[in-house]
Amino acid sequence: MLKVKVLTIFPEIFPGFLGYSLTGKALEEDKWSLTAVNIRDYAFDKHKSVDDTPCGGGAGMIMRPDVLGRAIEANHTTGKIIYMSPKGTPFTQKKAHELSQESELTIICGRFEGIDERVIEAYNIEEISIGDYILTGGEQAAQIMLDAVVRLLPGVLGNEDSLSDESFENYLLEYPQYTRPIEWCGRVVPEVLLSGHHQKIEEWRKDKAIATTTAKRPDLMKKYLDSQNS
Ligand code: SAH
Repeated sequence: MLKVKVLTIFPEIFPGFLGYSLTGKALEEDKWSLTAVNIRDYAFDKHKSVDDTPCGGGAGMIMRPDVLGRAIEANHTTGKIIYMSPKGTPFTQKKAHELSQESELTIICGRFEGIDERVIEAYNIEEISIGDYILTGGEQAAQIMLDAVVRLLPGVLGNEDSLSDESFENYLLEYPQYTRPIEWCGRVVPEVLLSGHHQKIEEWRKDKAIATTTAKRPDLMKKYLDSQNS
């Protein structure tokens, strides 16, 4: 079972959307656990302050290393410590698979202008970004990352097969999908999908996955071709 601890100044944001659907059911069924720790509980003063002005000047506030350090010391036992950060390594499906193998994760959610750099060094923290844009807080990023990780845990997706063809598994985007009605507004589902011919369907899907990836994500296509040649 994956045990997740999130360090945040807004514990009430959790589980948020992770409490719904597959991830919510998995939480209820103890396929993973989530503890939201309030960083303010580790503040030193009666105002429960967690931030201070940046050394060297500049806009905004920085989360204090002493308060954050105390929160980490009191809650982290083992496993990776991750800081959600726009400066981190971009999060990918590969990383989601990697994290789904862990037994314990401690995730720090930043606010304001982020956290004091010394905390990252002192605890050998891994920085992960969910994309090249700036959010107001790490909570949103942590939930997105956890959503991708939790759905990979054993028994969370009903049908394990539905994983292998998905976009980003094997670098290819998924082929187009259709359901009933067979005809809608003059548009008909591709005939091959109604043929019951499994090999032909598989070939069609592979061709479409390659065509879609070439058109929409040439960068991924290159990775796919490299993976085929190695
Ligand atoms: N001043 C910082 C941005 C702070 S944004 C900078 O320029 O790098 C406030 C918090 O939101 C961050 O501490 C981080 O935890 C979170 N955050 C913002 N954008 C993010 C992203 N793309 N990925 C992951 N976390 C992000």
